[in-house]
Amino acid sequence: MSSPRTERSILFVHAHPDDEAISTGATMALYAAAGARVTLVTCTLGEEGEIHVPAYAGLASDAADQLGGYRIAELKEACTALGVTDHRFLGGAGRYRDSGMMGWETNLRPRAFWQADLDEAAGMLVDVMRETRPQVVVTYDEIGFYGHPDHIQAHRVTMRAVELAAAEGIAPAKVYWTAVPYSVLEAGIGEFADTEGNPFEGLTSPDDLPFGTPDKEIAARVDGHEFADQKVAAMLAHATQISPNSWLMTIAGNFGAEFMGVEFYELAVGERGPGGGPNGWEADLFAGLVI
Ligand SMILES: [Zn+2]
Repeated sequence: MSSPRTERSILFVHAHPDDEAISTGATMALYAAAGARVTLVTCTLGEEGEIHVPAYAGLASDAADQLGGYRIAELKEACTALGVTDHRFLGGAGRYRDSGMMGWETNLRPRAFWQADLDEAAGMLVDVMRETRPQVVVTYDEIGFYGHPDHIQAHRVTMRAVELAAAEGIAPAKVYWTAVPYSVLEAGIGEFADTEGNPFEGLTSPDDLPFGTPDKEIAARVDGHEFADQKVAAMLAHATQISPNSWLMTIAGNFGAEFMGVEFYELAVGERGPGGGPNGWEADLFAGLVI
């Protein structure tokens, strides 16, 4: 017997420590502050990440190979910044290793997440769903937002887990994929044109980017601008990965809450709830659900 759902519960499935902050930090902080149950599952320790702090360069996978363990602490600090208390690693810390970028030899390591048995990994995620009973699940689209193997695998594992959960009667009502609408990218390309450290330098259209979703395919726009400072703090907690003078921080500094605090999603499973604006975007990922 599964227990009835009496609270809002939302599960975020991310590939590496720092993805939660960069792509869904404001949304996580917003729902945590609103008293919803917010669970984060991170699939790897991010062992192959590039290190931006010279003092810690020796932790790298081709040196001491201690980055993964170090990033557990960074992630903990990031979760604290977001007000998120329920965080797990898929299968436990170190069960799956960061696969590195597509085509790297690290993709082939036996513990690489890219090599994970789909049903085994999905089964571990269903264990979390059984316990936390999320009505809403958030992960990436089928290209993993931008093509990283661990992001693609996080997508596959999550979608398989949703199927398995449905088979035992605990399906989430909605599954969302992270997205950035074309209109936001177009605005960004224009606004950043004269900015130092312009992340869109040389680009004239969103078609030149490895990500971007047509506005009409976006289902939800979560306005977490009140939580933008928490999101930035969470990003900076991943100090080995995100340097204070990175382009992400340039965005945070120049455009602040309006840019950093608003996050967008595509709806992959479930029915879209009531929304507003020209595209009928939901403002709440629980929109339309009776809880
Ligand atoms: Zn990642």
